Amino acid sequence: PRADGRSAQSVGVPGTPVLPVLGDGIRVPLAAGGEIEYAALDYAASAPALGRVWDDVSAYAPYYGSVHRGAGYLSQLSTDLFEQSRAAVARFVGCRPAAEGAPAEEADQVVFTRSTTDSLNLLAAALPQGTRVFVFETEHHASLLPWRDHTTQVLGAPRTPGQAVELLADALASAPQGPRLVCVTGASNVTGEFWPVAELAEVAHRHDARIVLDAAQLVPHHPVDIGELDVDWIAFSGHKLYAPFGAGVLAGRSDWLRAAQPYLAGGGASRKVSREADGELAVEWQTTAARHEAGSPNVIGAYSIASACRALAEAGFDRIVARERELLRRLRRGLAELPEVRVLSLFGPDAPRVGVVSFVVEGWNSSHFAAALSAEHGIGVRDGLFCAHPLLRALLGAEDADPGECGAPEAAPGERSLNAVRVSFGVGT
Ligand code: PLP
Repeated sequence: PRADGRSAQSVGVPGTPVLPVLGDGIRVPLAAGGEIEYAALDYAASAPALGRVWDDVSAYAPYYGSVHRGAGYLSQLSTDLFEQSRAAVARFVGCRPAAEGAPAEEADQVVFTRSTTDSLNLLAAALPQGTRVFVFETEHHASLLPWRDHTTQVLGAPRTPGQAVELLADALASAPQGPRLVCVTGASNVTGEFWPVAELAEVAHRHDARIVLDAAQLVPHHPVDIGELDVDWIAFSGHKLYAPFGAGVLAGRSDWLRAAQPYLAGGGASRKVSREADGELAVEWQTTAARHEAGSPNVIGAYSIASACRALAEAGFDRIVARERELLRRLRRGLAELPEVRVLSLFGPDAPRVGVVSFVVEGWNSSHFAAALSAEHGIGVRDGLFCAHPLLRALLGAEDADPGECGAPEAAPGERSLNAVRVSFGVGT
C-alpha cells in the first residue's frame, strides 16, 4: 500500500533473459494465502546458477576424482579439467603471459580460493613485510578488513570518481616509501556504481603502488581484462558469477605470491618434504598457484566457475550489458516516480552502474519493507547495511546506523530507516 492510496503496480520485465538460470518459475507462498512466481532480485548476494553450469557439472559429476593425486583415469580426467578450468578463468579475465624470454612462472597466476573474502585474505597474508595498504572506507568489509595486520590508510568517501582519484593520489604522494597496495572495488555492492579502476591503477602505479581489484560485483555484469585495466590482482566469487559451490578466484601477478609463505600449509602446496639430520622438517614449496591451494581442491567449484565464464563469454557481454541497462533504466524510472523513495548514490543519481540499486523509502524501516515485498509480492531483495557499514553511514547520514548482524537492524515500523533495501539482477532477469 502506498501513502497516497494508490496500489502497487507491476511494471513487468520486458524481453527475455540473456541466459536461463535455475529457479525460474519457482512458486512461493504469500502471507495472505495463495502463491506467486518468485522474483529473484538479490543477485548481488548470490546469483542463481546458470542452467548451463548445472548441466556441465551434472555431466562431469559421475567422473570426478582426486586432483593431482591419482594415477587412475578419473583422477587424470579431474586433474585435466581442474587445470583447464584455471586456463579458462585466466582467459576470461585476461591474465598476462610471462614476458618474452622470462620463466613461465612469471605469468599471471589463477589461484582457486573459497570466495572473494578468501582471495583478499590470501593476498593480505602474502604481502611483503611493511606493506602500507590504501583502501576507501566505502568498500565491502571483505576488501576493507583483511589488511588489519598491515599499516592501513583508510580514505574517506569520495563524491565523484575524479575525487576518488585525487584522494588516492594525495594519500600516496604523502605516504612513506616502501611496498604499497591499493584495494578498490570495481562496482559497489551497495550503489552498483562503477569505480574509476583504470585511473586508480594509473595513479597507484605512478606512485609505485600495486592495486588489487575487488571484482565480486563487476565480473558478473561487465567484461574485465586485468591487462587493459592494468591492475595487479583481481578477486571474485563463483556464487555471484552464476556458479554454485564455494569457490572463488585470486588472479594476477605471481611474484609476491611465489615469495610468500603458503596460505595454508599441507599437501599439494609442498613439492618436497624431508626430515633433516637435526630432526627439523625441510619443506620445498610449490612456486605455482598450487602453493596457496593446499589440501584437496574444490574441483567442482573450479569447474563450475570456468563453465560460467565460458557461458558468459559465449552469450557476449554486449548483450549482457545492453539488457541490464534497459532493466536498470526501467527500474530507475519506476523508482523516480515514487517521491518517498530515495535511491542511494555516491557519485550522483545518473552515475553509471551495474544492475544493483539500493534505496530507502520514507516512512518505512527497510527491513520491514523488504519483508513486505517478500510476503506480499514474492519479490526477494536484500535489506540491511550490506557488509559495508561505513559506506551506509556515509550514504544515509546516520551516525547511529545500527548494523545488526551484517545489516539486520531492529526498528519499529515507521521509524527512520537505519538501513536500506537493495534490488539486484543479472543475466537471468
Ligand atoms: N566484495 C564485494 C563488492 C561483495 O559484494 C562481496 C559480497 O557481497 C564480497 C566482496 C564478498 O564476497 P564473498 O562473500 O563471496 O566472499
